Amino acid sequence: MKIPILADLLDKVEKLVVEHGSAGAQSKHIAQLRDYIEQLEKENQRLEKAVVKLSADLAEASKQLARHTSTDGYVEWKGVLIRRLPGGGYSDTPYCPTCKLPLSVVPRTKHLFCNREECGYLPHMSIVVFREHLRTLETAQHEP
Ligand SMILES: [Zn+2]
Repeated sequence: MKIPILADLLDKVEKLVVEHGSAGAQSKHIAQLRDYIEQLEKENQRLEKAVVKLSADLAEASKQLARHTSTDGYVEWKGVLIRRLPGGGYSDTPYCPTCKLPLSVVPRTKHLFCNREECGYLPHMSIVVFREHLRTLETAQHEP
């Protein structure tokens, strides 16, 4: 894609060189400018494609997050619910996806389970692994 401002600039430079410059310098410098502008146009094209792709990726990620976020602030994530904190990030307490109550921890193995007798949900994850995953999620969200 042509960048109009660069084409205009090149025309003006060409006009100035023709009016004031030596004949030897003219063609060499104008050719260098044309090469430079061509590189800029290619780079601009590459960046425009990247922006289109990133915009599409962002829209898809936003849709996915909206699907997994309920109005009460819970987000389903790796088989448990987590809660967004008002100031950003997530609470480090995992919740049962059925009961929405904080999951309990088996003392020795540190595995998570829902303590409500009628539920008994087992996410097959320890609190240690959960917190490691959570740190990864928060780190990923803070990267530019
Ligand atoms: Zn439960």
